[in-house]
Amino acid sequence: MTEKFSKTALKMKSNVIRELLKVTSKPGMISFGGGVPDPDTFPRFEMAEISKEVLEKEYKFTLQYGSTEGDPMLREEYISLLKRESGIEGLDVDNLLVTVGSQSALDLVGKIFLDDDSIYFVSKPVYLGAASAFALRSNGYVYMDLREDGVDLDEVENRLEEIASRGEINKVKFIYVIPNFHNPGGVTMSLEKRKRLVEIAEKYDVLIVEDDPYGDLRYEGDPIDPIFKIGGQNRVLLLRTFSKILSPGLRLGIVIGNKTIIRKMVMAKQASDLCTPSLTQRIAARYLQRHDLIAQLKPTIALYRDKRDLMLAELEKNFGDMKGFHWTKPDGGLFIWFTLPESFDTGEMLEMGKAENVLFVPGEAFSLDNTCKNSMRLSFCLPPREDIIEGVRRLKKIVVEYGKEKNIL
Ligand SMILES: *Cc1c(COP(=O)(O)O)cnc(C)c1O
Repeated sequence: MTEKFSKTALKMKSNVIRELLKVTSKPGMISFGGGVPDPDTFPRFEMAEISKEVLEKEYKFTLQYGSTEGDPMLREEYISLLKRESGIEGLDVDNLLVTVGSQSALDLVGKIFLDDDSIYFVSKPVYLGAASAFALRSNGYVYMDLREDGVDLDEVENRLEEIASRGEINKVKFIYVIPNFHNPGGVTMSLEKRKRLVEIAEKYDVLIVEDDPYGDLRYEGDPIDPIFKIGGQNRVLLLRTFSKILSPGLRLGIVIGNKTIIRKMVMAKQASDLCTPSLTQRIAARYLQRHDLIAQLKPTIALYRDKRDLMLAELEKNFGDMKGFHWTKPDGGLFIWFTLPESFDTGEMLEMGKAENVLFVPGEAFSLDNTCKNSMRLSFCLPPREDIIEGVRRLKKIVVEYGKEKNIL
């Protein structure tokens, strides 16, 4: 049968994180692997009330097919949210498309922009969901190293200049960035870099795809202007989602961009799924009308901040005096990127982790070329406090064991 599969299908690989989730449920397991929010933070009673009401009273909308563009009420509410939150103005409903999570938006971006000889820029490490959606269309990725204050823009400029000088600049379609609390990197792009990125993109006429699922989960510091606000809708396509702030089960992502791009994405989406579920869109719309989503996030933010602080303190306690061990200190989001000395292979260490009942995602899962092997992604949002302490202790144990075994510590 496999000989019938398309070339695209043959490029598809099973995702390491999905595989990991299978062992997460083993008794006694402490997992820093998952990228999912804490379900106890979801406003389930408010959503239950809204759900009953919109099913009974708005059934002609919620139980019916909807438009491909998405629920107009949700799009209106989202426009006002963007205005309140970030001061983004000048949008109307035709600038917005509601997708089945941001993952589907990433897939549509690949579909409408990438041919098999196209070039696009992604960070190293890269968000797996985006990388796999883009890589199915084209292998022409260019890496941007991730630094404390975002991707290395000198490198971006050099690479663009080089591509331009060989006459291929038209093949460059977009630069994909996660400016706030990067997944998996944990770092945030500075305002200076956001402005410079827009200038570079203007100079070479490439689009910026700004993926921002975590912007509202800020634990310290002041919010930084979205790149979309700096560069405008003709330069930046902004991807947002309800997954990390309301509930991933709703499967709702929002794409904000210029109308030509949105129209093309709508056509691409028609072939994929006709429309995003009317029911969950209307639940989210009514939720936004009745509750202040941002204010309601305060306890969630306090909870995650506390766990982040604890994990950072435990990492310091266990690895602080070990040479070559360092980790990012995220101002928000769900992830810490933990880097070990070069000779460590976190993929190999995962087997020891499974035996010792501690899970993490090996860095290699966030690379397109089997690199990042000496890093791992740690998520602090789900385990209870005592598990964070015990989990980091187990991590230390396997690091020491592995180091001794390989004679590298
Ligand atoms: C979680 C996440 C998404 C998408 O999640 P959806 O549930 O599909 O909306 C997109 N990008 C990044 C960087 C993420 O971490």
